[in-house]
Amino acid sequence: PIIRRADYVPPAWRVPEVALDFMLDADETWVRATLSVVRADSGAGMPLALDGGGQKLVSLRVDGVPATWRTDGDRILIDLPGNAHRIETECVIHPATNTQLMGLYASGGLLCTQCEAEGFRRITFFPDRPDILSRYTVRMEADRATYPVLLANGDRINGGDLPGGRHWAQWRDPFPKPSYLFALVAGDLAVNRDRFITRSGRGVDLGIWVREGDLPRTGHAMAALKASMAWDERVYGREYDLSVFNIVAVADFNFGAMENKGLNIFNSRYILADPETATDADYDAVAGVVAHEYFHNWSGNRVTCRDWFQLSLKEGFTVFRDQQFSADQGSAAVKRIEDVRLLRAAQFPEDGGPLAHPVRPDSYIEISNFYTATVYNKGAELIRMMATMLGWDRFRRGCDLYFDRHDGQAVTCEDFVRAIEEGGEADLSRFRLWYSQAGTPRVTATLDHHGTAATLRLTQSLAATPGQPVKQPMPIPLRVALFGAETGRRLGEERLIVLEDAAAEIPFEGLAERPVLSINRGFSAPVIVETTRPAADLALLSAHDDDPFARYEALQQLMLDTILADLQGRIDHAPVIAAMRDVLGDAARDPAFVAEAVLPPSEAFVGDHLPAIDPEAVHAARERLRAAIGGALVDDWRGLHDRLKAGAYELTPAAKGGRRLRTIALSYMFAAGAADAAARAWAQFEAADNMTDRQGALAALASSDAAERPRALAAFYDRYRGDALVIDKWFSTQALSTRPDTLRAVIALAAHPDFTLANPNRVRALIGAFAANQRAFHQADGQGYRFVADMILALDPINPQTAARMVPPFGRWRRFDPDRATLMTAELNRILAVPGLSRDVFEQVSKSLA
Ligand code: ZN
Repeated sequence: PIIRRADYVPPAWRVPEVALDFMLDADETWVRATLSVVRADSGAGMPLALDGGGQKLVSLRVDGVPATWRTDGDRILIDLPGNAHRIETECVIHPATNTQLMGLYASGGLLCTQCEAEGFRRITFFPDRPDILSRYTVRMEADRATYPVLLANGDRINGGDLPGGRHWAQWRDPFPKPSYLFALVAGDLAVNRDRFITRSGRGVDLGIWVREGDLPRTGHAMAALKASMAWDERVYGREYDLSVFNIVAVADFNFGAMENKGLNIFNSRYILADPETATDADYDAVAGVVAHEYFHNWSGNRVTCRDWFQLSLKEGFTVFRDQQFSADQGSAAVKRIEDVRLLRAAQFPEDGGPLAHPVRPDSYIEISNFYTATVYNKGAELIRMMATMLGWDRFRRGCDLYFDRHDGQAVTCEDFVRAIEEGGEADLSRFRLWYSQAGTPRVTATLDHHGTAATLRLTQSLAATPGQPVKQPMPIPLRVALFGAETGRRLGEERLIVLEDAAAEIPFEGLAERPVLSINRGFSAPVIVETTRPAADLALLSAHDDDPFARYEALQQLMLDTILADLQGRIDHAPVIAAMRDVLGDAARDPAFVAEAVLPPSEAFVGDHLPAIDPEAVHAARERLRAAIGGALVDDWRGLHDRLKAGAYELTPAAKGGRRLRTIALSYMFAAGAADAAARAWAQFEAADNMTDRQGALAALASSDAAERPRALAAFYDRYRGDALVIDKWFSTQALSTRPDTLRAVIALAAHPDFTLANPNRVRALIGAFAANQRAFHQADGQGYRFVADMILALDPINPQTAARMVPPFGRWRRFDPDRATLMTAELNRILAVPGLSRDVFEQVSKSLA
């Protein structure tokens, strides 16, 4: 069935209080729930509807008396005579066989929960929708030896030992919350404890709970948590509200982490970090996700979503907030480049394909499929555009109004925009189109120069997307500046131009020299800008633009243009090499920026600019560019590889940038065919005192024919066998190899004893990484498609959410040649024909074919 936003009806019954009583056991857990229910204004004559997830209902009482019920699919309906009743249910669930990892499940000896979006109904019968806010009291009882630690939301208010080696604990969360924020954890956990004093002087006990052996790897997450708490006070005026904040790390988790009130549950890869096992990118991801989940306490928990169509209300805003936090912690320019790279890699293809949907979707079959880059990352860009147009102070006043006005409520994206409008004194009426229209706008920009004046001509257009044939122009905020073609100096101030209509002409005056256009600086709008700036102008910007993002962008554009020209038989690498030489001059001053700037656009990004993608040709053209850059500058790369050799390991931005640039230098030496590349890689691998250097060297070798390759892969495996997060890297590094035999290697790895479909991280490491390797996945004989389709079908009965996440690469079939398109749709049809497909996979596959 299709769920539609337009069909929203307010709940007929409210549930102000919930008491839960768990008799915990991995094989069989008993759940007793007592709900106080109150008829809502709109509930006259309506039965109480409780969602279920196929669990067994043992008993049901209304006001203490056994009662009858009707069933409606997985729901039960109860006719109630009065306006306030007490409902008691008793059900049995089986955590150990819950392979979907939704609801209450077992992971490595722990019992834990995941309820967003609709997992709570798999624990107990409940109106499982985010606009029902309840106060929870939770009692848990379990065997004390197996489950010595018992955690739930809020504060622990009671507990103790029981006969027979059992014990119990009771927790109470004073804040009304939707069921998707419920959580409990039981298990043998060690804790890293710390304390945070809020700005109004309240003490908060912080705990990060992990397996005993992982305790030494929790320091970075704890530091990030405290930094996030202080940051949200300072930047948004938001203070934490409970006396306890706990985080638990689990090994089996469907995505990154979950913001349950006072008890965040994390995929262990976003908590655990030490230099030996985590790369610099892992460290950044840990801090970013810890901050994201913490920030949800206000943007998500105190103010939550009315229904799941409003998901971006909390996710877009919270991603924007975690991006701001990370930008403040390290290099803002590099962070912005990373954000945009992710948006272009994950969201632009979504917007341009069959799964395109608005930031606020209109319909879904399975909500789990809408935790997308569009809702999260494009959603964050919408918030950023509002902040750009209003300026920080006005935007912040709008946020204050939003939090004040809606604290304790379940609201909509419209409520957010209205608060920003009123609090920030702005008119966002046309801006709302960004929430409802799918697709990435295209902006064309041409600058005509005449005497000391110039005219900037802008147009915008938005292509049709599924269900949206006709679109309207949207306000597009573009930060624009001009630079002198002779001096490279900026001509006048930067301007913020909001392109409101389909076209506009903007005059510039008083120009002493020919101007070069710098546009969408800082990536002020999530659009594709089309200009016809010659290579010389792009080279000038890449050397002189005073906006680091624009500098990066100019060199990316130059490299993209060069690859696209090569694909049409016109090879000229000289302008890129010259610009690259200039940028390398900054390697000592800002290695992190230089590392970002010298990486050519990905094969997938190049493909997105072609009418029909030939993956082999794209790979070859990009490799020719890499070989040219590597060869022409080989002495520079060699010099960098020598000079950036680290002293003692440090986690400073400069040290991180140095490590990144050093490994990129190494990979350019491979591209150049330098005779000493493999020996250098092996030496870097062997001498490394941190995972960034070691895995960087391994990745360079993994894409090579060097004799050191098998040696390094074996040594890496032996060193880290038993450390799941590092073995994930061993799988993904091989799946991302550019060697022509990657598919064969990946098929062999799927039969490796360490590969399992039961662990989502392992699935993403091998299958997810392989499907993102454009050339390997799109091997002409279609065997890559067949392999991934087989994996989707094998995983669907185990974990449909994670299976469905592997479908989108097939949705790009229209972008390839007819032979590949035929092979891809054949696999989609083969999946669709299998009886008993999950809703998750069915939705993604059927929409991909449509
Ligand atoms: Zn989130």
